[in-house]
Amino acid sequence: MLALAACGQRGSREAGTDGGLPVGRGGQGLGGTCAGQQSFLIGSGIHDITGPAAEVGMMGYVQLEQQTAGIHQRLRSRAFVIASPCNGKRVVFVSADLGMVFQGVKQEVVRRLKATFGPLYSDDNVLLSATHTHSGPGGYSHYALYNLSTFGFEPKNFEVIVQGIYQSIVRAHEHLAPGHITLAAGNLLDASRNRSPEAYHLNPPEERARYAYDTDKRMTLLRFTKEPGVEVGLINWFAVHTTSMGQENRYISGDNKGYASYLFEKEKGTRYDATGDTFVAAFAQANEGDVTPNIFGGEDGGGRDDFESTALSGHKQYERAASLYASATTPLTGGVDYRHVYVKMDDVEVWSAFTGGPPAHTCTAAFGISMLSGAEDGPGVGGGEGATCAAIHDLWSAFTCTTTTTACQAEKPIVLEMGAMKPFPWSPEVLPLQLVTLGNVALVAVPFELTTMAGRRLRETVRAHLEPAGVTEVIIAGLSNAYSGYVATREEYARQDYEGASTHFGPWTLAALQQEFDALARALREGSPVPPGPTPRDLCQQQSRLRPGVLLDDKPLWARFGDVFSDARASYARGETVRVTFWGGHPKNDPRPQGTFLRVQRRAGLLWEDVAYDWDWETKYTWRRSYCMPTLACSHVIIEWAIPSDAVPGTYRIVHEGDWKSGWDGRVRPYRGTSRTFTVK
Ligand SMILES: [Zn+2]
Repeated sequence: MLALAACGQRGSREAGTDGGLPVGRGGQGLGGTCAGQQSFLIGSGIHDITGPAAEVGMMGYVQLEQQTAGIHQRLRSRAFVIASPCNGKRVVFVSADLGMVFQGVKQEVVRRLKATFGPLYSDDNVLLSATHTHSGPGGYSHYALYNLSTFGFEPKNFEVIVQGIYQSIVRAHEHLAPGHITLAAGNLLDASRNRSPEAYHLNPPEERARYAYDTDKRMTLLRFTKEPGVEVGLINWFAVHTTSMGQENRYISGDNKGYASYLFEKEKGTRYDATGDTFVAAFAQANEGDVTPNIFGGEDGGGRDDFESTALSGHKQYERAASLYASATTPLTGGVDYRHVYVKMDDVEVWSAFTGGPPAHTCTAAFGISMLSGAEDGPGVGGGEGATCAAIHDLWSAFTCTTTTTACQAEKPIVLEMGAMKPFPWSPEVLPLQLVTLGNVALVAVPFELTTMAGRRLRETVRAHLEPAGVTEVIIAGLSNAYSGYVATREEYARQDYEGASTHFGPWTLAALQQEFDALARALREGSPVPPGPTPRDLCQQQSRLRPGVLLDDKPLWARFGDVFSDARASYARGETVRVTFWGGHPKNDPRPQGTFLRVQRRAGLLWEDVAYDWDWETKYTWRRSYCMPTLACSHVIIEWAIPSDAVPGTYRIVHEGDWKSGWDGRVRPYRGTSRTFTVK
């Protein structure tokens, strides 16, 4: 059962040990005492973060009518704790199936970690990144801009996300044990395409000539093995938008990266309900700002529908990761280290060394008009190409849409200056920048979506300092620790395509990032501290909710919750789809984290064995309002099972589990329904 309170909750830690294995103190992560070290303490953990599966606006495409109406894949938080015995330092890396990790999420996760573990985990050494799936429920930001599609804050979704990330980290912490990490990297050529090639083309020809492709094709993979040879998981980074599922989709889905994780974890026998050690496969995001999985242009990923396009893209990423995993024999060497700073991104004086000309300044956060015409692999809120202020105003009267520019924002025709909104800006401006080294691999964690070339330039800045100290791989960990739009290069910005229009802080944002990361990399190399920077505001207590929760659930007088409305047939052939409709409750009553809304069961002697759940690829859970008299508050729950071609012949049934809320006493009660038995031949 979920508490409604959104902030200041204590994380309830499930059973376990301390996990704080003794590690030495002092010394630098890169050189010094850690040089040549190959042993780490490693732990992995996974937890459900699937929020309300009906009537919550989805996070990504900002389409008001795109609201959740079911589950195709559950969303997960995949966590790793990596500590180095040589210097006593540790970091947390999380890849979460989310559109973004908003600042409020990081603040609350760290608050709960501190309440449990004291000073062991902090902003500085916890890296939370999002896969950028566009098919999860929204409303979990503390900033107004990102709650527009949900008409305000959704406390239940926030709580499921925060608690799930926290629990995944607790598990990784408790599983900490000696092990080693190996590395492999290689290209994946046919899974991505640049969606703003005209902007990319504005980058200097001599710079473009250094690269074979207009997106980064390199997948970098870390393989985690505990002594004596127990496989515990992997992280790989590959830059591609998780937008194989389109704007019409209403099913919760981890999109292509979620599917790739699912395939790998299925192969390794991952137990999602286990509190013990289980295999975790994270497909993490990189500099995907201008990179689409829809390799045939527009919204076309090559499949006949969203599901097939997602499967195609996910399968390519899975296959490449599997081959890299099999060949990952190069050991990571060195220690763990990190530097973190908060920067007021709208107030950075950028020196000539980074502008390549006169000094410049970053700007108050604002959108250009192309942001509204859309590029998240489909038309945006303004209705596609040629968005106008009038069209926007018709949709959202809150927008005072004028296309002015400021000297600071240069080429950008401003439609919304969210940094100037009162009493609080609509998007954050004090933002976290974090640099982590895991042995010879450096992670550049940014709260932005960097375009391909922006990512390359930032990597070079960091590489210049860390390569002489032994770092061989520099990776952009995109969409990390907070979110504040895109970062295009200065040249790309001039064109004001979607990515430039969505670069909040103006033309010199990338240069400002390079300047700040130059300082972080220098400090990390020299073993010197960095000042923390300004503290970001905490808006946890400022959240309002414009949409009511579930008032009550109803059903026809003659039916009970869980009764079958339309049943299965008596028999099916493999390859056919079983479809059963139940009288059900609203999934908002309880999102059932770590649970399931459905079970496909096969008879085994006297018992029924589960063969599929609501997160399995071959199942769909669909919620639909049904207009029964007199309250109109009835729900139909449709369970579908596409019988796999390798299904074992036998007797099966479909079980639906849910929760209904009483209009009499307001209580939420669980229910369960079962279809007729049917045979699969
Ligand atoms: Zn994006």
